[in-house]
Amino acid sequence: MEPDLTEIEERFVLEAVQSRWISSIGKFVDRFEQEFAEYCDVPYAVGVCNGTAALHLALRCAGVGPGDEVIAPSLTFVATAAAICHAGAEPVFVDCDSRNGTMSVEAVDQAISARTKAIIPVHLYGHPADMDLVLALAAERDLVVVEDAAEAHGACYKGRKVGGLGDMGVFSFYGNKLLTTGEGGMITTRDSEVYRRLKFLRDHAMDPERRYWHSEIGFNYRMTNLQAAVGCAQLARVDEIMRRRVRILELYRRGFERDGVDVVINASSEWASCAIWLICLVLPKRYHSEDRDRICRELKSLGIDTRPYFVPNHMLPPYTSFRAVGLEGDMCVLNNSVSLSERGLNLPSSSSLADEDINRVISAVRQALAC
Ligand SMILES: *Cc1c(COP(=O)(O)O)cnc(C)c1O
Repeated sequence: MEPDLTEIEERFVLEAVQSRWISSIGKFVDRFEQEFAEYCDVPYAVGVCNGTAALHLALRCAGVGPGDEVIAPSLTFVATAAAICHAGAEPVFVDCDSRNGTMSVEAVDQAISARTKAIIPVHLYGHPADMDLVLALAAERDLVVVEDAAEAHGACYKGRKVGGLGDMGVFSFYGNKLLTTGEGGMITTRDSEVYRRLKFLRDHAMDPERRYWHSEIGFNYRMTNLQAAVGCAQLARVDEIMRRRVRILELYRRGFERDGVDVVINASSEWASCAIWLICLVLPKRYHSEDRDRICRELKSLGIDTRPYFVPNHMLPPYTSFRAVGLEGDMCVLNNSVSLSERGLNLPSSSSLADEDINRVISAVRQALAC
């Protein structure tokens, strides 16, 4: 997934450089925060240096620390788990839905303990998690909900934008994400007190009324005006960017259907309006990770770049000792996460793909499957 950049991004960055405001003060930072908040239908957004920092800051702002457990899906990019550990808390990994790949709410229910402080639903590969159920559980137990929307800019859950559903929403603007600033992140919230505290913690926890007075340990997680300039340009083009994503998915869907290829492309639940980030192909159940890896190798030999699905985090060396909760309870195999991870791959997804590129990928997949 290549960044989708035009002369508008170039112009805004040049303007930032010419203004000499290239650090974290400058008109583009405020503008990007305001416009991104509007885009997410929330009153507040706080720009930070990357998505992992956004998760860390959100957890710290929520008071998550040593002794606390934070429930997160196992099937996600590793940053979700790393941020929980950075905050000093312990991740508790839960299994996912067998189709859409997002966190299983039944597993969350089983995973809640007296030490649970927060839940991080991840809108995986642009598909919103089943937020009403998560929010109901969280309200019952007085838990904080931080949405990891790093892969889901503009996605809607039952008609509501992600990022404004939980207590905070976290976005990434890394180079391969749907909207990019090179490196960058954002935290969205509806709560003015949370907003104030996020800005405070982001900027070394410096007293806004008294320079060089720090009442607690803060962070330097600020976003630069250069990053924000790219972000403003991306938001100015967001409709065009998203339209192109819809078109690419449509071409893949139609192509695979036309050729009668037995695979699932970007599975979606009826209540979801997905952000189309990566093209997600899941092989039928009879396939295993060796088959998936072979298909990826064959595509690579034809010059087609793919990615395997994320490895469930509970299987990664630094995270094997934490609790993992499946649908049958503690420490069972997280069947759905493992199975989807082994059968899933991401196809070329860049906005710059031409129709004939997509057709070439489809016929390469068809041939690789036929072997
Ligand atoms: C990309 C990503 C992040 C981290 O974002 P960075 O900007 O790369 O730090 C966090 N969570 C998920 C689910 C991601 O895909």
